[in-house]
Amino acid sequence: MGQPVVLTGMVLTAMPVNDFDKRITVLTKERGKITAFARGAKRPGSQLLAAANPFSFGEFEFYEGKSAYNLTKASIHNYFRELAEDMETAALGFYFLEFAEYQCQENNDEKEMLKLLYQSLRALESPSYRKELVRAVFELKAVQINGEGPQVFSCMNCRAKESLIAFDVRRGGMLCADCAKDAAAQPLLESTRYALQYIASSSVEKLYSFAVSDEVLQELARIARDYTAHYVRHAFKSLQIIEDDAFTVEIKK
Ligand SMILES: [Zn+2]
Repeated sequence: MGQPVVLTGMVLTAMPVNDFDKRITVLTKERGKITAFARGAKRPGSQLLAAANPFSFGEFEFYEGKSAYNLTKASIHNYFRELAEDMETAALGFYFLEFAEYQCQENNDEKEMLKLLYQSLRALESPSYRKELVRAVFELKAVQINGEGPQVFSCMNCRAKESLIAFDVRRGGMLCADCAKDAAAQPLLESTRYALQYIASSSVEKLYSFAVSDEVLQELARIARDYTAHYVRHAFKSLQIIEDDAFTVEIKK
């Protein structure tokens, strides 16, 4: 065995292996997504018992094996335990992890995605943010980080920067009043356009610092879902738990 390597990251998945071990994937700042074995992590009293679980964020010490890393120590800063307090919040948290697991690669620079994951889970735990808003912001920023975010500052057809009044998922962004006439585009409230532009231009650190009305939230959530479904094209298991009527935004009139 060589020198240990210490990486900062978050556990995305943890699968039991044998009676006492786990196989985990960790999204790290330094090396992108990695797979590791946490030997003895299921033994009572193991130092890795709490660390080798989804959402654990901190510093992890590994030895590099031939095909995988071996986790030896961990110093966890945040377990995100409050996510477990209700089912919907936990399910959304798992959806964010699954999204990152699907999108991120080994030996790739995934710092922005790690930051987004961390900030989004913090926002999810906070009572100040609507969960549907956190989900929409996460989805839109995650596809943007992956290089497929929507164009929200000019018309997809004529590049006009004024009177952007509709969003066309298939074309990947906004349409102006003239170009929206004969397109199957979804009309937008002005505040929804502002929110989309804020999400696209804001740094991850400042992402969760705005509030929206119910109407805007509903438009934003629908755009984020349709856009993600169209450009990511992956059936996320954790979404099946979330997507029932109890979890859609109700508009109070
Ligand atoms: Zn146009």
